[in-house]
Amino acid sequence: MTTKVKEEIDFSDAAGSDDLTPVREMVQACIQCGTCTGSCPNEFAMDVTPRRLWRLVLTGQREEIFQSQTFTLCSACYYCTLRCPRGLPLTEAMGALKQLAAREGLTRHRQSILFYKSFLESVRRHGRVREMEFMTLYFNAMKNPLLPLRFAALGVKLMLKGKLPLQIPSKGGGALAALFRQAAELEEVP
Ligand code: SF4
Ligand code: SF4
Repeated sequence: MTTKVKEEIDFSDAAGSDDLTPVREMVQACIQCGTCTGSCPNEFAMDVTPRRLWRLVLTGQREEIFQSQTFTLCSACYYCTLRCPRGLPLTEAMGALKQLAAREGLTRHRQSILFYKSFLESVRRHGRVREMEFMTLYFNAMKNPLLPLRFAALGVKLMLKGKLPLQIPSKGGGALAALFRQAAELEEVP
């Protein structure tokens, strides 16, 4: 126990002050119990477990953090946040890592970033996601004419089940535009 407490104190200065500092502060009290990993429904697909990701953050191992796809696979379900015995804002910390990767335009995370941006653009326009429009925005952003083919079979399956209505993409009324603008200002999103 003594060792863990000592590690917490030492970690706060481990990597000095950099753009990871806000994330480090969020997870500074982590005791590496692994509850977050055990709670995460997406952990099976992650290359680094959430517990280990927080360890990397605390020790300032930036390269390993941004080589990992773990934070991009977080679906913000809040299980880890609810169950962390230290009450740490883990979902927020995952979100902060996504923002850092987006801000720096890291090539490795380009696909995930464009996916999120396309999803949010559809929500911004209509107040909810329009699946057909969302995928059209994503395909356009990816600039890969062959990409839609990879999703064609899934698209047909969803259409047959009535889960993918035919909707022509439109600018919509910008239902949530003001809210998005304010959030971007608060979070300094590029
Ligand atoms: S559940 Fe909380 S204390 Fe436990 S490893 Fe995860 S972040 Fe650390
Ligand atoms: S909020 Fe993200 S990291 Fe936490 S349990 Fe859910 S998917 Fe996993």
